[in-house]
Amino acid sequence: MSHDKIKQIALVAHDNMKKDLIEWVEFNKGTLKKYDIISTGTTGLLIEEKTGLKVTRFKSGPLGGDQQLGAKIAGGEIDFLIFFWDPLSVMPHDVDVKSLLRLAVVYNIPVACNRSTADFVISSSLMGSKYERRAPRFDEYLHRKLDV
Ligand code: PGA
Repeated sequence: MSHDKIKQIALVAHDNMKKDLIEWVEFNKGTLKKYDIISTGTTGLLIEEKTGLKVTRFKSGPLGGDQQLGAKIAGGEIDFLIFFWDPLSVMPHDVDVKSLLRLAVVYNIPVACNRSTADFVISSSLMGSKYERRAPRFDEYLHRKLDV
């Protein structure tokens, strides 16, 4: 898939990580302003309230928001996922979290799961330039031989 630049950024943080994400967004507001931001419900609301950035908000993560983001990734509509997931808490929607992270890998989307990675990615020269993201090809999978 060919992109002139990264356009759609998905931002998600679990409750214990929301403060971290908000600080990161505030710090990078100037850059983030140039992109469309999509978030799960509570994360998006906080970003809007605390930073003033405009956010397209889906349902809250545990209520289907992670899956809505996953569907967007499968549809080729998200270019970059920042997902500060909580490594020290049990989540009721653990399967949705895994599914979102899995789809990001399936579709070869850059994913940042902590602040350092997010810092490296947002300061990459590739953010503002043309980037040829290798389109995943699923021919072999789609045409696999089934014994039915
Ligand atoms: P939230 O969802 O932004 O609605 O809190 C986060 C998540 O996916 O767990």
